[in-house]
Amino acid sequence: MPRREIFYAPAQNFAGDFVTLVDDELHHLARVLHHKAGDRITVVDGAGVAAVDSEIVELTREFARVRILKKVRRYGEAHIHLALAQAVPKGSRFDWVIEKGTELGVSEFIPILCARGEVEAGENKVERWRRLALAAMKQSCRSFWPIIHAPITFEALCEQSREYQLSLIAHEGADEALRRLTEAALPRKAVIAIGPEGGFTEVELRRAQESNFYSMSLGPRRLRAETAGLVAVTKLLTTLGQMS
Ligand code: SAM
Repeated sequence: MPRREIFYAPAQNFAGDFVTLVDDELHHLARVLHHKAGDRITVVDGAGVAAVDSEIVELTREFARVRILKKVRRYGEAHIHLALAQAVPKGSRFDWVIEKGTELGVSEFIPILCARGEVEAGENKVERWRRLALAAMKQSCRSFWPIIHAPITFEALCEQSREYQLSLIAHEGADEALRRLTEAALPRKAVIAIGPEGGFTEVELRRAQESNFYSMSLGPRRLRAETAGLVAVTKLLTTLGQMS
């Protein structure tokens, strides 16, 4: 399947055999990349569907109309919905987590507020992360625009972990249970929790255990929080055969 330039249009812009690009995506298509009618592009709806290798049939100042030649579901997606719940590190380091996590296949980012965490994420940051995730989705040829949640407490994460068939919490000194845990059927939804620079407290680790989180080791070295998130994602997806 040829990998062409990826554009985004929300699902409501898909109608029958056509999809319409407007605003930023139109600008990128026409002004930045100088596409013309007759060119082939791929348009994703951010919900897992791609109009692959489809033809621009009309290009105006207001819109581009693209004839859908082939639709692919789960385009570029793993067979697991993976959430990364991570305490927000200082500065712009979470930007990097969003960008690289999206490239690796994370479908949901949950900023968590932990006892030893220092940083809160305001509404502006969440919006900025959504834009970063959109760009990373297109860059990495995915079709699902990862969901970026507003920050929640660690307690709230534990309460909502029932939604996931597999919940993992990474901390130093954890037992390596991953291989055994993933021998069963592929979980549909999984969540990985990563702590702040100061680590999870004993109280948080006990609370996670009560909520059926399994401990996950990332090896003998202490990783920075942002490295840990990406290593944990890679490790789980590799163990589940979702990186090939
Ligand atoms: N002193 C802290 C502690 O005791 O956890 C170190 C925190 S580490 C800088 C930040 C987060 O990354 C940790 O809370 C954990 O989630 C994750 N992490 C880093 N290295 C890890 C490792 N080797 N195994 C498992 N988790 C790790």
